[in-house]
Amino acid sequence: DSSDDDNEEYLFKIVIIGDSAVGKSNLLSRYARDEFNLHSKATIGVEFQTQVVEINGKEVKAQIWDTAGQERFRAVTSAYYRGAFGALLVYDISRRTTFESVTRWLDELNTHCDTTVAKMLIGNKCDLDNIRDVSIEEGAKLAEAEGLFFMETSALDSTNVNKAFEIVIREIYSNVS
Ligand code: GDP
Ligand code: MG
Repeated sequence: DSSDDDNEEYLFKIVIIGDSAVGKSNLLSRYARDEFNLHSKATIGVEFQTQVVEINGKEVKAQIWDTAGQERFRAVTSAYYRGAFGALLVYDISRRTTFESVTRWLDELNTHCDTTVAKMLIGNKCDLDNIRDVSIEEGAKLAEAEGLFFMETSALDSTNVNKAFEIVIREIYSNVS
């Protein structure tokens, strides 16, 4: 509780959505705790993790939400989306059906959230290049058409994970400041 401008608080809620088993929980655990689980169970998981990052000398808290398996029932509750400033829409580059679901997830996001939400399309599991089922170009093309940031990541070998979260957090910051 302070009137000092320097102590202004930033708390950004970010949601992770996408089909089951695309790696949502592992992207979060890789980013927040630098952990990866080869046999992660869909039902295990915390509601959210808070990461503190510094942007332009300001402390920004990113509260990143995980579905904890709700997506198996093809719908995530509106409470999950409420108050979100950013969203990661994740598919698995080795499973085409998960890429085809992205537009449905985007529609669901848009019905629950303001269009100003910072959105990043993520093609996860890029370490599985040998069994790739969606090209980088297709991902980039969809992202461009829908006005999303785009990145391929690997929660397994850490490729682009921090970068993806940081781009979204910085975009939110620049939207609100
Ligand atoms: P969620 O259902 O979207 O939360 O997916 P999980 O994070 O539970 O991951 C589902 C499965 O994919 C697990 O067996 C993970 O070990 C695996 N997985 C997650 N991310 C990656 C990745 O980047 N590369 C590979 N090869 N496997 C991954
Ligand atoms: Mg999960």
